[in-house]
Amino acid sequence: MTPISSIEVNGEPVFGVGIDAQTRCSHWRGRHDTIALRMKCCERWMACFECHRECTDHPAEVWSIYERDQRAVLCGSCGQTLTISEYFNAFSCLHCGTRFNPGCADHYQLYFEIE
Ligand SMILES: [Zn+2]
Ligand SMILES: [Zn+2]
Ligand SMILES: [Zn+2]
Repeated sequence: MTPISSIEVNGEPVFGVGIDAQTRCSHWRGRHDTIALRMKCCERWMACFECHRECTDHPAEVWSIYERDQRAVLCGSCGQTLTISEYFNAFSCLHCGTRFNPGCADHYQLYFEIE
């Protein structure tokens, strides 16, 4: 397994490979790649799905459509959390206005069950 690093955001540890202060990791380093996701399987905040795969020895589980009120999205810019449904309906952080990477929508199914 790849060595994992972690940072603290508002007292919560966030894990990732080569994670930076805005939760970018070695896989996603774009200016807008500043969110972390809480994984359903282990309830750990991870910079991305790839980080989870490299740093754990279990398969990732996705949040079901009945868990859209879970605070599973963390804004790396301000450290506030969003529920899954808030995240789905926002193009930027509800708290600080930081824009999310629109390309993330292509990967929703890695983290969340999609109808
Ligand atoms: Zn896990
Ligand atoms: Zn990653
Ligand atoms: Zn924010």
